[in-house]
Amino acid sequence: MFEQEPLACWNGERLPLSEVRVSVLDRGFLFGDAIYEVIRVYAGKPFLFHDHLNRIQRNLEKMSLTADLDSIERWILETIAASGYVEASVYIQVTRGVAPRTHRFPDPPASPNVLIYVAAHHDSYAKFRNSGASVVVFPDQRWKRCDIKSVNLLANCIASDFAYQRGCAESLLVDASGKLVEGSRSSLFGVKDSVVLTAPLGENILPGITRRLIQQLCEECKLEMHEETIPHSQLNEIDELFLTATTMEILPVTQVDDHLIGDGQIGPVSRQLVEAYRNYIDRFRSEA
Ligand code: PMP
Repeated sequence: MFEQEPLACWNGERLPLSEVRVSVLDRGFLFGDAIYEVIRVYAGKPFLFHDHLNRIQRNLEKMSLTADLDSIERWILETIAASGYVEASVYIQVTRGVAPRTHRFPDPPASPNVLIYVAAHHDSYAKFRNSGASVVVFPDQRWKRCDIKSVNLLANCIASDFAYQRGCAESLLVDASGKLVEGSRSSLFGVKDSVVLTAPLGENILPGITRRLIQQLCEECKLEMHEETIPHSQLNEIDELFLTATTMEILPVTQVDDHLIGDGQIGPVSRQLVEAYRNYIDRFRSEA
């Protein structure tokens, strides 16, 4: 479990996470009828907060789910402050609420259940950072709206566990046409001839908040970037690979299955972006 008890906020009421109780008729529990978000906290402040709030709003709209975003914003800030955690992550989940079990949405709508909790951050990727991570390739078995950050994560969990059982950091998901779309819980980037590559946005991937920041950092570092999906069959032409996500930050990848990427060392472009990311966070930490 958690080393330190996370502090939760359940529909506006603050309490230890282990004390939150929810009905078995909650549609998040029965149908996965819910969206979620994860925000990193540095120096007690939520990072890229407005990008995350915007994504919550877009996800609510895509799910025809109504919730009060102003309250959610306020509850997040209050829960971070009350937790006392300065290096943390915030989990936010909004479900369609409790209703008699029928597939169609409740009419009139049920009130949404909003869970927020703040947990101390531990870098679960630390052991992979210095040497670069090994990853595996796994079929993308997810539904067709991966752009929605819904809690229907069974296919992601299966892919993630496949990697874990093999001592690897992540699974790269390969679609039916043989393209490496993203990780089971991260965005995927390659570097070929000094050009940074990542899949274009669409319904087949999650629009990562960190992905957007990497695009911005590429511009600042004068690195060329193309939105292009890497075919699995062309991995041997890729010089560098890295993954990004909110809590993972940037994770260089040096091996995919039995195949070394480049010379098997973390490459210069990945190093440059890791440093640019670190500097960006340092600036954020020191802002008032
Ligand atoms: N793709 C998937 C499938 C993910 O689960 C995540 C992490 N939530 C990401 C990409 C990265 O998104 P973000 O940078 O917003 O954390």
